[in-house]
Amino acid sequence: MSILEVKDLRKTFGSIVAVDRISFEVMQGEVFTIIGPNGAGKTTTLEMIEGLQEPDTGTIALKGLNWKQHGDKIKQFIGVQPQSSALFDLLTVYENLDVFASFYNKTRSLDEIMELINLTDHRNKKVKALSGGQKQRLAIGLAMVNDPDILFLDEPTTGLDPQARRNIWDVVLKLKELGKTTILTTHYMEEAEKLSDRVCIVDQGRVVALDTSKRLIQQLTQEREIELVFAGGPEAAKRAANHIDDEPSVSRSAVEGARVQLWSVRPEETLYRLFRFTTEQQLEVEQVTIKDMSLEDVFIAFTGKEWRD
Ligand code: ATP
Repeated sequence: MSILEVKDLRKTFGSIVAVDRISFEVMQGEVFTIIGPNGAGKTTTLEMIEGLQEPDTGTIALKGLNWKQHGDKIKQFIGVQPQSSALFDLLTVYENLDVFASFYNKTRSLDEIMELINLTDHRNKKVKALSGGQKQRLAIGLAMVNDPDILFLDEPTTGLDPQARRNIWDVVLKLKELGKTTILTTHYMEEAEKLSDRVCIVDQGRVVALDTSKRLIQQLTQEREIELVFAGGPEAAKRAANHIDDEPSVSRSAVEGARVQLWSVRPEETLYRLFRFTTEQQLEVEQVTIKDMSLEDVFIAFTGKEWRD
């Protein structure tokens, strides 16, 4: 069931077109990630959906409701992660949650939220004494106080070290277990790949690709790269490559020393035929690797831009 529907959203700032007719739907319970280069329009898109900016044109339906007519209702079932700078530095973790909870009629148990964001042990610690990652988790906790169905996290892990980033991933996955829908933006490709049910790649204000990362990768190419290393050195590698080059599943191959690289649309078939040959010819294969495309390869293919963390 669709919980958010965005249609033909457009937003300009003077001559800058920040968002250029973006459309997508988010399903209930999904982790939906918007990725894109700097200035692609991610934050503007998110802020329009959160009701913080008004689109020039286009429509946004959250559970079928729109901001103009149903703003108060929408605020009850969405949660927006505030910037870390919006936290009260001199108040404790618990007190921050308590202040935010006072804005709402309905709240989730604060003890439960502290468990969820793994800050129970720090409940009486002042925000100024927390690490960057703990502050970000608290910010997610603040977005949870009204027990929302939909959470918006804008770059929740930017600037965090890998371990702190993983701790945030754990929180996002717990939210998913609770049946929440999470819409997030990120600069980290690995994060998009690990967390998301679907990934929306945005560039220059437009959606250039939208699907599961697995299908995006498949859509881009059916080919997989296989790498083999032969114990018999360059001679063995050349013989194997010459043999397998004739296979219809193999589009190309390259030999470098004892190493053979193959690109195949049916890797299982290619390997089956190759191993039959190497067994017959008693060529010892020292190492076999089947390389996967990554979401990063997809990003580069769709946007023509290198990915920079
Ligand atoms: P980043 O990854 O750097 O946060 P982003 O994908 O979130 O980028 P946006 O912040 O949405 O991109 O910006 C999209 C474009 O709109 C950029 O060219 C930006 O400079 C411009 N822009 C955004 N907000 C404003 C504003 N208030 N006034 C003028 N231009 C703006």
